[in-house]
Amino acid sequence: MYPGLPDPPPLGTAMLPPATFAGVTVFITGGGTGLGRAMAAEFARCGAAVGIASRDAAHRERGIAEVRSTGGEAIGVPCDVRDPEAIRTAFDAVEEALGPVTVLVNNAAANFPVAAADLSPNGWRAVTGIVLDGTFLCSRELHRRCTERQSPGTILNILATQAFTGGPGMAHAAAAKAAVGNLTKSLAVEWAPEGIRVNALAPGLFPHDDMREDLKALRPEPDADARRQPAFRTGHRHELGWAATYLCSPFAAFLTGHTLVVDGGNHLRRDFVMPPVTPIREQLPPRGWESVF
Ligand code: NAP
Repeated sequence: MYPGLPDPPPLGTAMLPPATFAGVTVFITGGGTGLGRAMAAEFARCGAAVGIASRDAAHRERGIAEVRSTGGEAIGVPCDVRDPEAIRTAFDAVEEALGPVTVLVNNAAANFPVAAADLSPNGWRAVTGIVLDGTFLCSRELHRRCTERQSPGTILNILATQAFTGGPGMAHAAAAKAAVGNLTKSLAVEWAPEGIRVNALAPGLFPHDDMREDLKALRPEPDADARRQPAFRTGHRHELGWAATYLCSPFAAFLTGHTLVVDGGNHLRRDFVMPPVTPIREQLPPRGWESVF
């Protein structure tokens, strides 16, 4: 009776002209798993060569394999986005193999559900360090390279809708994503005169197999996910790929400082009567401060 929002065209359908990113090298952090891998593959489908930067070689290999399955070119580079020297070395390696990087996707993130009162200083620093510091440090690296070459560039930051609302059990990640949303706007204005665009994408719920077990556990009935969304469905990873490639493409050349929300309206949901509040300490098992980081 209520169909919800329709499904998108199938994976592999071209949204942009196939050569939109021909000759372009994209640097994507965390591009070996989940949503990063889907975005890497979509850039490759549109002709880009892709550098996948992350810590775990097995993750990077999976990203490379997915890009190659589209007929695209990819390399993996070890990188912890909290380390400016590692970022510089990773950009050097990607540029030596694939050519100058002009598109950066700041996708790497860490998150784990925890009551704020149980969040250790290490846990706070790990999440904010990866999400906020990592985004800034990688963006600065792209900016330096593009301005030295007098080349245009494009940056896409991946947020989450808790950036707008906050979220119990997510104080660290929500605060870091909100800060990245704010950074997106400052950099967009500062760097537009130099030809560099900076936008953001805020995904809603896009379930995938790589999700951490403790994040999966927040959805006790995954089969009911769709019913809990106003769209009556969750996101398909390739929908995010289309949004990412559009925002970084020349078709969005006048678009900067923007955050595109791809969540089927879920973060706007407010019912007249909301479900009863379950305190965070009743939702999450207590954990020792040092148990995660
Ligand atoms: P994911 O599979 O856990 O991916 C996170 C990626 O970040 C991994 O590939 C990981 O690679 C990389 N990473 C973590 N720490 C790093 C570090 N210090 N240096 C470099 N790379 C690092 O998560 P996902 O679900 O695909 O999420 C991708 C993005 O979408 C994230 O920004 C996330 O916040 C956002 N998002 C996802 C959803 C969703 O429903 N899935 C919803 C909202 C927002 P290594 O382990 O190899 O380093």
